Amino acid sequence: MKTPPAPGSRTAAYFPGHGHDDYTVGAYDLELDYRVGPNRLAGTARLSATAAAPLTRFALDLGPFRIGRVLVDGAPARFRHWRGTLTVTPARPLDPGAFTVEVRYTGNPSPVRSHWGGLGWEQLTDGSIVAGQPTGAPSWFPCNDRPGDKARYRIAVTTASAYTVVANGRLTGKSSAGANTTWVYEQDEPTATYLASVQIGRYRSAELDGPVPQHVHYPAARERRVLHDLGRQGQMIATFCELFGPYPFGAYTVVVADDELEIPVEAQGMSIFGTNHVDGERGEEPLIAHELAHQWFGNSLTVAHWRDIWLHEGFASYAEWLWSENSGGAPASEHARRWHARLAGGSKDLVLADPGPRHLFDDYLYKRGALALHALRRATGDDAFFRTLRAWTAGHRHGSVTTEEFTALAARHAGRPLDDLFSAWLYRRPLPQLP
Ligand SMILES: [Zn+2]
Repeated sequence: MKTPPAPGSRTAAYFPGHGHDDYTVGAYDLELDYRVGPNRLAGTARLSATAAAPLTRFALDLGPFRIGRVLVDGAPARFRHWRGTLTVTPARPLDPGAFTVEVRYTGNPSPVRSHWGGLGWEQLTDGSIVAGQPTGAPSWFPCNDRPGDKARYRIAVTTASAYTVVANGRLTGKSSAGANTTWVYEQDEPTATYLASVQIGRYRSAELDGPVPQHVHYPAARERRVLHDLGRQGQMIATFCELFGPYPFGAYTVVVADDELEIPVEAQGMSIFGTNHVDGERGEEPLIAHELAHQWFGNSLTVAHWRDIWLHEGFASYAEWLWSENSGGAPASEHARRWHARLAGGSKDLVLADPGPRHLFDDYLYKRGALALHALRRATGDDAFFRTLRAWTAGHRHGSVTTEEFTALAARHAGRPLDDLFSAWLYRRPLPQLP
């Protein structure tokens, strides 16, 4: 039997080029000037960081921009920018504790190449999108690109006034000068780099009714479809609050970009869909539920290591079935039976708690993760299962999580060891039978 991977072993094992262990970032302050037509970005990033040990130099992740200057604690620092890594050597070695870095950079943001195609800042037909998961953040700002290093964000974007700019958190400022408008957003809750986001387009905006404020931005021509398809989102939030615990952020923002998107994109406090995800008939409502559920599972509770991705995708996929069950559709058990049969008939299997970087976003992983949760629910009963979910989101709110923390919590709420169940579902390849 495969034993659980040791928590806390090598930070960036799945993406060795991304993320650094020797410091953490507490806040990112990004001032961005963006020209939509030529796709030209000029940025100043100020990072408030903490060194874990004395540092003679440190590294940031950043794509192929021209670097204007780098300041550390206000003093010019030497730097070397090579293959996505900006190595900074301060004039004087840093003591353990707080320090600041300022980086000025300009260029044409280009997606980070990956197994899943381009990631990060991408041009749309008339605007731009950020799809950062898992390693796209350095396409638009210098960062410590690992999911376990969560920080506050202030994002100020200046662009032509014809465009709406949407970023994470609260809109705290909007001012126009000449033909340009500056939009300032602040996200106070700790946010992983891949969930930082800027969306730019010619959007109309509306508010939806529900238990938390919901903003929606969309192309005017799609208004009827968008408002119809999101018509049950308020009810969905209420249902998930009951099942998962309080909604983790002050508001929820949905952007429907004016292009087709292969898949929806999650961001902190926000989800981004393409025109192909709104058919005017709620045909993609499961996706709306899935992305919303990521606000709890992925965004508030974020994996410390990518290998634990099932804690995001398995949970969000199970949330689709829970929404079905709670909104007059098929019960979760029916979805589970159907998907179990489909997965059992396929040739694929993997270790859910350590699938390997290439399988992070496989549909098999999503559905097997949902089935693992359904198996837990069947084994422990609804009461213990949903108490586990609420204790999970409460205990790790805005934190970092591992599979081992979840399995220990579930066993505690079950009042008995669940080692056999979890080793079969999470740490061994063959697909187990549903209990
Ligand atoms: Zn997802």
